[in-house]
Amino acid sequence: MFATLSDRLADTFKNLRGKGRLSEADIDATAREIRIALLEADVALPVVKEFVGAVKERARSEEVSGALNPAQQIIKIVHEELVTILGGETRRLRYAKTGPTVIMLAGLQGAGKTTLAAKLAHWLKEQDKTPVLVAADLQRPNAVQQLQVNGERVGVPVFAPEPGNGTGNPVDVARASIEEAKRKLYDVVIIDTAGRLGVDETLMQQAADIRDAVQPDEVLFVVDAMIGQDAVVTAQAFLDGVGYDGVVLTKLDGDARGGAALSIRSITGKPVMFASSGEKMTDFDLFHPDRMASRILDMGDMLTLIEQAEKAFDSEQSMKTAEKLATKGGFTLEDFLQQMMQLRKLGSMTKIMGMLPGMGQFRDQLENFDEREIDRIQAIIQSMTPAERDNPKIIDGSRRARIAKGSGRQVSDVNQLVDRFFEARKMMESMAKGGGMPGMPGMPG
Ligand code: GDP
Repeated sequence: MFATLSDRLADTFKNLRGKGRLSEADIDATAREIRIALLEADVALPVVKEFVGAVKERARSEEVSGALNPAQQIIKIVHEELVTILGGETRRLRYAKTGPTVIMLAGLQGAGKTTLAAKLAHWLKEQDKTPVLVAADLQRPNAVQQLQVNGERVGVPVFAPEPGNGTGNPVDVARASIEEAKRKLYDVVIIDTAGRLGVDETLMQQAADIRDAVQPDEVLFVVDAMIGQDAVVTAQAFLDGVGYDGVVLTKLDGDARGGAALSIRSITGKPVMFASSGEKMTDFDLFHPDRMASRILDMGDMLTLIEQAEKAFDSEQSMKTAEKLATKGGFTLEDFLQQMMQLRKLGSMTKIMGMLPGMGQFRDQLENFDEREIDRIQAIIQSMTPAERDNPKIIDGSRRARIAKGSGRQVSDVNQLVDRFFEARKMMESMAKGGGMPGMPGMPG
């Protein structure tokens, strides 16, 4: 998502490089290019107009800062305006002061509601909450079962009508779920409601009835970011028909142009609260406008990366590695493998790389990055004896051939891995000496 917009904006800023000061014509030309970039990204026209107007106005009137050159100044303005249209501050969930917090999900069928319900439950569990999922989507065949499967995946109970109880009434199910939550002391109730393929009266009415029956603390509108301008239209329809407090964007991992994400806040006045970006239960987080803006401008999303890295990296493991690094030659192939596996936990390598600043220019290579590389490395290392993993120097030619055979690779692959390991070790030893944190081992490449 946003790849084309990022590239477009980067080109625009490139044209400003080396300019001592910006003439009126420079500002106009830049504004025009930004306008085209946003329109191409499928951002709604009123939002584009407002955005470009604000950038132009500020570029003209703002004091030229001594610290920034004109290109940087424009980037700063564009960044700030992006943060603004994305909603400014991160909007966090509001929890009920007494009794269970009730979150109701609404949206079209296929938006990703059921998946999202489970992701949200998983996320809440990580915040030490005890959520329960409620299957109030009794329309779509399998919806209840799908929620149950997802609930099981994340270890969260699902409240659903008894099978054989006819189709049941979603309003009754929702109402009963609150009683159940009070009885069993669940502190967050996530209600998955029925969606339809298109906006219609019956759907809106049912959602509104559930809302009236359970008085949710938060109604979240779930929308597929891939559907572009249609997302904005649907968002408006749900706002009028049901009303909601916040938006959840799903499928941000897709290759849509990102217009929905950029338009929805301005058009509806409702904040984007969460973003869902993949099929895995962990591909979900609070939506941070500032980080998203940085990502669009390809400044990297270091904050998200660091946060995810902290979560994924086992701190005990890192401590051990740090200790080992303090001793020369203490870092072994086993540690190398461990670190690779930790990296894998961060999620798709491409995704990680995409968050690093300045990586936009390598996008093509990144997209071709072969994640199976880590599997190959693992196979090779696991074909070594423990003594060899401790001290790869002892691996001679015939052992290299054996290891290659054992792991289904070529001898040259084994050689390359061992070389790369020694390089990584050298790098890490010098980092440890310099007091730096143990970082990533040599990236597979
Ligand atoms: P619902 O009809 O709104 O409940 O939608 P589902 O939860 O059944 O999701 C519809 C489809 O979208 C399923 O195939 C999901 O696996 C997929 N999906 C949901 N969220 C995401 C996401 O963030 N990224 C991607 N790529 N697919 C998703």
